[in-house]
Amino acid sequence: MPDMYKQDIFAIPYNLLKNLNIKLLIFDLDNTLIDKNHDTLNSQTKTLLTKLKKDFEVVILSNTVRKNRITKIKNDYDIEIITKALKPTNAGLKKIKNIKNYSKNQIAIIGDQLLTDIALAKRNKFYSILVDYQIKDIEKITAINRQIEKLIFKKNKLKRGDYYE
Ligand SMILES: [Mg+2]
Repeated sequence: MPDMYKQDIFAIPYNLLKNLNIKLLIFDLDNTLIDKNHDTLNSQTKTLLTKLKKDFEVVILSNTVRKNRITKIKNDYDIEIITKALKPTNAGLKKIKNIKNYSKNQIAIIGDQLLTDIALAKRNKFYSILVDYQIKDIEKITAINRQIEKLIFKKNKLKRGDYYE
């Protein structure tokens, strides 16, 4: 289970992360920062990320393979984005430019999926934060993951919407 569970990226108490000495925030892209129907970050998200950059290094780690969309996001907002990350494997992590500058306990992963984002954080002993997904995914693999998530939630006596920190 994740160390923290919040409704969305705006509900996360980032000061608490700062106090925990977290230095690197690794955000998932789809359904965490953006829904799949958009190819730019909205202004509220950009404002938050810009604010966070003052206290943390911020990168995006995504399993997406849609290159054009990533180019659009990058052209619109200056941030390091790693694609084809193959989460929950460590393949994408290794591509993060400054990852070696941080120890495990200085890194947090924020994402909407237990089986990719949170699993990646857990296997590396990073801090993990689950957020609710923005829209229901139509991709088959995600739909299967969601069913498994339901079982994990149930097994741990947790409910969607019962947020904690
Ligand atoms: Mg996601």
